[in-house]
Formats: sequence, structure tokens, C-alpha cells
Amino acid sequence: MFRSWRDVRSFPTWGVPLAECAVCGQAFHREPGYYLLAVWGLDYGITAVVGLALYAACWSLPTATAMWIVLPPLPVFAIAIARHTKALYFAVDTWLDPPRAPGPAGPGAP
Ligand SMILES: [Zn+2]
Repeated sequence: MFRSWRDVRSFPTWGVPLAECAVCGQAFHREPGYYLLAVWGLDYGITAVVGLALYAACWSLPTATAMWIVLPPLPVFAIAIARHTKALYFAVDTWLDPPRAPGPAGPGAP
């Protein structure tokens, strides 16, 4: 679904899914903005839950100290799980709404 990290030439390319599956040709971009929910919902949501859990684990510390422990790793964590959340979103979406085979009239027919 993604390029190997050895084939990635720039950081933005690292998080962009390929256009289609190399084996079966299924498109990984089903529509414009397809992965917005994966990023805004899953990635940031999971990061927020992990941040709250870390903060809860630091409950006995002073607030400023807890913030210095909790906040710096969160952006790194969000970037680290970005590809995973997109893959998970694509898998669940494909499971719930599988791509339809084109009808006898072809893919653009009503
Ligand atoms: Zn495939």
C-alpha cells in the first residue's frame, strides 16, 4: 500500500499511499480527500487517547513536569502511526464497502 522506506525520496512521499495495488490493481485512492478521516479521526484520535493515558500515568507529578513528559513524544507518535492508520482505514472501508466490479456497459455507465 505504501512505498518501502528505502524507495521513499522525501518525507511527504513516505505517508502517501500508492495509486493502486501492484497485485490486483485495486485503487487505494477511492475519492478526493479519502484519507482525511484516517488522519483526523484515527491518527489524531489515537494520539489524543495515548496522550491522555500518559498524562493519567503522570498524575502524581506537577502539571508542568507531566506536560514536559507527555507532549514532546506525541507528534512523533502521530507521525509514526500515520501509515498504519491509513492502512487500517482503507482495510475497514474496503471491508464495509467493497469495490464493485464494472457492469456490462463499463465503468462510466449509469
Ligand atoms: Zn491487491
